[in-house]
Amino acid sequence: MKWGRPYVLRTAELLPVLLDQVEAGVGSESVWRELWTMLCIEGETLVPGSLAALPRLVALARSETQALEMAGAIVRSAMTDDQGERMFVESPDAIAELRELVDQRLQTRPADYIWGFRTLLAIEGQFHWSAALGDFSDDFYEVACPHCSLNVTMAIGGYGYHSACRDWDAGDVDRRDLRPASVAELDGMGRWMHNLAVRDGQDRLAEGITYLMGCAECPRCASVFRIADEYAAANLPPLLSVRLARSKID
Ligand SMILES: [Zn+2]
Repeated sequence: MKWGRPYVLRTAELLPVLLDQVEAGVGSESVWRELWTMLCIEGETLVPGSLAALPRLVALARSETQALEMAGAIVRSAMTDDQGERMFVESPDAIAELRELVDQRLQTRPADYIWGFRTLLAIEGQFHWSAALGDFSDDFYEVACPHCSLNVTMAIGGYGYHSACRDWDAGDVDRRDLRPASVAELDGMGRWMHNLAVRDGQDRLAEGITYLMGCAECPRCASVFRIADEYAAANLPPLLSVRLARSKID
């Protein structure tokens, strides 16, 4: 995203002042609100100055929950905004500390558990899961069938555990039961995510992951595919997709 020069100048001038204030412990709620507005517009978009502020926010995050949440939001945004590599190169120590702090918080089983879970996924480089993973209370995921290209809707959670063809009038039709992976079958990130959820007593999340890492049947052509493979391939950020495509050609 391109930012206008007046906005960049305002951020460059104001950001250090606001960070000084919160570091000195004189940051009122309005100062934090101003920082949120400046650094994490709508919580999703990376702005100029966000990455430079990250080490200071992480240092504050040891004692200030708002700083922890803000640092997490910046990391998640950076991973979907093709700034991820830059962030790891410029601030490896801050990222490592943030990882530790978020992991510690998850072990306290906070009400907003999925927030920290998604932040850890971003730090692990799992862009698509970080951006899209829900808590499986009423999640839907959509992928194209790799064989017939039908858009298949997957329900995982309160609406059931099925693949279906979504009809805007009739709802999800031609439902087929999903086939969850067994815990023994989980590997790679699936195993990592499941282990983390189990460690922290997040039963619904752990169960949902077994479905997400399992297989679905296409309601039209009846082919069976791994949901995670198709979902990951369809949701990589543009730059990484190009790089992966090139490495396949090479
Ligand atoms: Zn199909």
